[in-house]
Amino acid sequence: MAILTKGPRGTQDVLPSQSYKWQYLEHKVMEIAGLYGFREIRVPTFEHTELFNRSVGDTTDVVQKEMYTFEDKGGRSITLRPEGTAGTLRSAIEHGLLGDALPVKAAYLLSAFRYEKPQAGRLREFHQFGVEMLGSSAAASDAEVISMVFHLFQALGIQAKLELNSIGCPTCRANYQKALYEHFAARREELCDTCKDRLERNPMRLLDCKSPICQQIGQGAPVMLDFLCEECTAHFAQVKARLEAMGIAYEINPKIVRGLDYYTKTVFEFVSDKIGAQSTICAGGRYDGLIQQLGGPALPGVGFAMGLERILMTMEASGSPFPAQPECMVYLGSMGDAAGAKAAQLVEQLRQEGFWAECDTVGRSVKAQMKYANKLGARFSAILGDSELESGTADLKKMDDGSVTQIRLDAGPDEPGSLVQAVYASRLDEVAGALAGPGETADSKNANR
Ligand code: ATP
Ligand code: MG
Repeated sequence: MAILTKGPRGTQDVLPSQSYKWQYLEHKVMEIAGLYGFREIRVPTFEHTELFNRSVGDTTDVVQKEMYTFEDKGGRSITLRPEGTAGTLRSAIEHGLLGDALPVKAAYLLSAFRYEKPQAGRLREFHQFGVEMLGSSAAASDAEVISMVFHLFQALGIQAKLELNSIGCPTCRANYQKALYEHFAARREELCDTCKDRLERNPMRLLDCKSPICQQIGQGAPVMLDFLCEECTAHFAQVKARLEAMGIAYEINPKIVRGLDYYTKTVFEFVSDKIGAQSTICAGGRYDGLIQQLGGPALPGVGFAMGLERILMTMEASGSPFPAQPECMVYLGSMGDAAGAKAAQLVEQLRQEGFWAECDTVGRSVKAQMKYANKLGARFSAILGDSELESGTADLKKMDDGSVTQIRLDAGPDEPGSLVQAVYASRLDEVAGALAGPGETADSKNANR
């Protein structure tokens, strides 16, 4: 049955040969978040549906079309999180974090779920890294989270264009909404059905519509930047000045309104030209009314989220460096029970030292064991049999050049001649070789000094 052997549409597996890339990325983003004082928060995969209706906003595509919502056995309406901000704020409010030293800085790595049409860079289960800075209304905070993304992209070896806009506050947005309403209402009959409804409830959502006709009508629509009140204008000017002072290039894009309802003032996106149509790799902004709207204190916030699948695609397309794949250091083959037990014991010593080491756990022939060692790409191998047990020694073979070192099977890991010591010695040679540079051995370099 295909349903058992094919994952649901829009999901993706990360296979063992690829997972080191994810581990690297996840480690890197959290490491850099830490440099900016963001510590990890972990929140549940599902929340009460109402939380997303309230925060993401019930006129948005996410809430209207994309949420995985179901009734649990207790009759509650539950939704798999479509993003990370709502749960993070709910948690911060619930646990009283906002009464502590402000700003509160939290970072998350999580899976998110949206029922969308799957395509390159658009999945139904995807992964986000994001941060929230809660309790500061100053432009310096907007600039700091943006600069962190900038720093992170540099570290990951990717380039992206920063696009910036301001969508004002509820006060100045009211005037804008009115102007926008008038603009679209003039051609109401041509709008798509969803937008006819959106026009009455939240005209800004029309700017986000993907239908060609609505986009065309949106072309000449008024822009928010012309409607900003004094305070929002000043805030935006400060954000721009900070970015300039930090040497971070940006472009103003008045079309960015963001797909979620909670934003105020600064909104931004980072766009890559390397990955096709789904090119927004990071998006965020300020949300000054949201915490209070969710029942918390009247505190402002600013944050962003990036799609990790899209980040990885950008890294691959940019030829970004990844760390080396983990390598199997030693495969210790064996023939017979007693040798098998000895091999298992020696392999365990290597693992205690932090080396990936393997021995036979299947009961295969020596030939089949060596074939497996080759497939793993083990750097060293040895075979233990009766004669090795008798002599107490074995030949450790370096697989790439066939060179052989004798090891003592009964030597403790710290003693000369042990397997562990032989592996360390070879690692030292390698480091010395790398320091000496290409074409030279450590010895010849020393001799030239
Ligand atoms: P888009 O315009 O691409 O639909 P969005 O505005 O809905 O994005 P946000 O809610 O701001 O996206 O989410 C932040 C980031 O998460 C996006 O910039 C993108 O990198 C990523 N993302 C969003 N939806 C998906 C998805 N379905 N699959 C993969 N990544 C996604
Ligand atoms: Mg979307």
